[in-house]
Amino acid sequence: MRIDIISALPSIFNGIFDTSILHRGIKAGIVNIKIHDLRNYSNHKQNKIDDYSYGGGAGMVLKAEPIAKCIRELKSERKYDKVIFMSPDGNPLNQKLSNKLSQVKNIIIICGRYKGIDQRIRDLFVDLEISIGNYVVSGGELPAAILCDSIIRLIPGVMNNETSALFDSFQDNLLAPPVYTRPANWEGNRVPKVLLSGNEKEIKDWREKKSLFLTKKREKKEKY
Ligand code: SAH
Repeated sequence: MRIDIISALPSIFNGIFDTSILHRGIKAGIVNIKIHDLRNYSNHKQNKIDDYSYGGGAGMVLKAEPIAKCIRELKSERKYDKVIFMSPDGNPLNQKLSNKLSQVKNIIIICGRYKGIDQRIRDLFVDLEISIGNYVVSGGELPAAILCDSIIRLIPGVMNNETSALFDSFQDNLLAPPVYTRPANWEGNRVPKVLLSGNEKEIKDWREKKSLFLTKKREKKEKY
């Protein structure tokens, strides 16, 4: 899989893809992430990439030309399955969407900044808009990193134990059960006995029961 990220502040990504599971996926050649500095696509002398908002109001808007230039260059090199724009008013990111996107080959992700991007880019180039939640952060870079993380860990071969992603929360519409590690007795707080029993069937039943309980508990909370 190849992910091209278009950003006005590419340094935000420093470090994010250099460690842990994401790095493993990149090193193993399973995923290839390219970050494109929007300023390199400006035809303006000072590499200007933003401008005032038509109609007035505070805040700058990312200009259409540099974004379009970057997308066109990328599209001339290969076929893309999706051009994604990170946006608070997009489709909510969830495990189902991440699963779906983990199966495609090439995607472009556009990160907004300031007031956002010129609407014409959204109208002409974007075919999927994704929100990480009903709140606003300052730019699309952190949302894009969250999207990439949630997708990449699902690609077969990226995680050490391939099956472990299958048992994460939401994968089967259930939340994950609690987990414990050594010591079995920590300051008088004991790990549930069943987990020490070695009885696989009982452990499986206990985990399922806990998953159901936590999922129901959260469903109730969400009503408020
Ligand atoms: N004026 C916009 C917010 C702009 S925030 C509005 O009110 O909708 C600047 C950029 O950050 C956005 O263009 C988007 O790319 C990104 N962003 C902010 N919050 C986000 C969220 N919840 N999900 C995805 N992207 C987000």
